[in-house]
Amino acid sequence: MIFVTGGAGFIGANFVLSWLAQSDEAVLNYDKLTYAGNLNNLHSLRDDPRHLFVQGDICDTATLQSLFAQHRPRAIVHFAAESHVDRSIHGPAAFVTTNVNGTFSLLEAARAYWNTLEGEARTGFRFLHVSTDEVYGTLGPDDAPFSETTPYAPNSPYSASKAASDHLVRAYHHTYGLPVLTTNCSNNYGPYHFPEKLIPLIITNARAGKDLPVYGDGQQVRDWLFVTDHCAAIRRVLEAGRTGETYNVGGWNEQTNLSVVHAICDLLDELAPKASGSYRDQIRHITDRPGHDRRYAIDARKIERELGWKPAETFATGLRQTVQWYLANDAWVGQVQSGDYMKWVDLQYRTK
Ligand code: NAD
Repeated sequence: MIFVTGGAGFIGANFVLSWLAQSDEAVLNYDKLTYAGNLNNLHSLRDDPRHLFVQGDICDTATLQSLFAQHRPRAIVHFAAESHVDRSIHGPAAFVTTNVNGTFSLLEAARAYWNTLEGEARTGFRFLHVSTDEVYGTLGPDDAPFSETTPYAPNSPYSASKAASDHLVRAYHHTYGLPVLTTNCSNNYGPYHFPEKLIPLIITNARAGKDLPVYGDGQQVRDWLFVTDHCAAIRRVLEAGRTGETYNVGGWNEQTNLSVVHAICDLLDELAPKASGSYRDQIRHITDRPGHDRRYAIDARKIERELGWKPAETFATGLRQTVQWYLANDAWVGQVQSGDYMKWVDLQYRTK
């Protein structure tokens, strides 16, 4: 069995679904079900005995310890986090609590459990920490992409809390010998993405006839990776990564935010045309986010060279699949766009 934290969120749910599509090894999915956790993402597994869901907080070391002792996982894959940069600006405390204290508590429980293991169970154990490229800060237009040796320079409360968690994970390897692995990935997109993030927000707002908010001039550059490619990278690192190492994961696919919005509008114009005009007519530039990093880019040569991983999707194929998925899943969108969620989105993207 593997123990997954945050498996009801966007990437975690895609990971659990792809894991069980490719393997019979059971998953214990431990998730607090914050606003971002959604068991509807895992609806297809509701009668699957290989998926065991436990609602809980990663800050709860005692519960984690008893679950480890009871289920004896061979690996922990740690997705659970507060993950949204804008929320971290409005309310950083939850980010420190979950991302820093929660990762610490999970590491403590994992270390105590690992110390009870013997022989192959001990040497084969893995703790994989899923992190972000945002820990490296921002790049100028001509700078080389982030590599695994780029110094950390986080600029938002979110990235600072993830950086702190990365350092704790590293320290548990160097101090206690815990067999850890860390992945630092660029921006993901794909099915089950909560529509507070750029790509699903633009798709769902466009369809609802609402404004398409673009921060500032829209020239911020991000590397984009289709979520199942990220999941495949995590599987590969879990299987063959060298413990104590970090692996950068990215799609070699830099796009400005505005070009992403244009590409979505063009796909919607093709797949779900409006009665008149283009979805591009709904684009509105809004005040930029404070401390907005200008450019992220990932050098993924280490994972490609050492582990033979490569993304299967291009941005064009991945974005088409994503738009098609949202067009085919109105019920999922309707369910997440309720109550507190809408209040938050109105606050975050208030237009000028
Ligand atoms: P998400 O916000 O969609 O999901 C997070 C999940 O964690 C939710 O299911 C939530 O209920 C759960 N959770 C939150 N706090 C918890 C707690 N205290 N205890 C237990 N569960 C808790 O996030 P995501 O986009 O799927 O990201 C998953 C991980 O990948 C995060 O660690 C994030 O930093 C990292 N990451 C994300 C991206 C991206 O583009 N989304 C890119 C690189 C890395």
